[in-house]
Amino acid sequence: MKAKKHLGQNFLKDDGVINNIVKIIRPKQKERIIEIGPGHGAITQYIQASEADLQLIELDNDLIPVLEQKFGPAHNVQIHHMDALQLQLTDGPYKVVGNLPYNISTPLLINMLYQAKNISTMVFMLQKEVVQRICAPPGEKNFGRLSVMLQHQFDCTAHLVIKPEAFDPPPKIDSQIVQLTTKSEVNTVSLPALELLVKQSFQQRRKTIRNNLKKIVEVAQLEAVGIDPKQRPETVTVKQYEELTKLLEATKA
Ligand code: SAM
Repeated sequence: MKAKKHLGQNFLKDDGVINNIVKIIRPKQKERIIEIGPGHGAITQYIQASEADLQLIELDNDLIPVLEQKFGPAHNVQIHHMDALQLQLTDGPYKVVGNLPYNISTPLLINMLYQAKNISTMVFMLQKEVVQRICAPPGEKNFGRLSVMLQHQFDCTAHLVIKPEAFDPPPKIDSQIVQLTTKSEVNTVSLPALELLVKQSFQQRRKTIRNNLKKIVEVAQLEAVGIDPKQRPETVTVKQYEELTKLLEATKA
């Protein structure tokens, strides 16, 4: 079957890499796991064998019969022919895993962020550059919107970098495995408000935080949460973004 570029199909063919990702997922008997984009089942077969309770989410019409044939008879697998961006999780927590189609990785991560109360941990294969952005600490050049939003809710660990040869067809870029574990205690803020503030803050990275937020934040409000108005947005910590969001929300109320 020819790989479909528009569905981000780069199938894993390297058993060593498949083994590694499964080790990080650590599937256990009866554990509820959702795999996004199972493809031909390279990772799926090992999760299924662990006796985990597995839900597969695959969009490609042509792959559904392949999955039905391989996993249909298994008592612990359910196959859903749907778009992962439409996933609405209830009755969690779930482990959510997958070698993600790179074209939907950012919207999917943001969708999962809004559903974190139904997620225990996520293990994903992503573009290396995206993993670097997710896990970057403040002060690094990769620290940006995705870092703040995901680190607000999850503990992020970057694992192995995977070379293109591990896939068929090989992508043009390196990939990396990332693990995102829901924090037991989260600074409670309105997610849409945080998202909006962070978007505005990183509007122009070379400008100061004061200039990026000129229209919506007073200097005194920045200073109240320990931000120097002359700081660049990438040097402001996640906690400071959270505190600033809370302050702005409280002022509005
Ligand atoms: N897990 C397989 C592997 O590692 O070999 C396939 C990974 S491939 C990078 C991405 C998979 O996601 C493909 O099977 C593709 O059809 C599927 N996919 C693409 N867009 C999707 C979407 N919006 N929702 C669900 N699955 C999607």
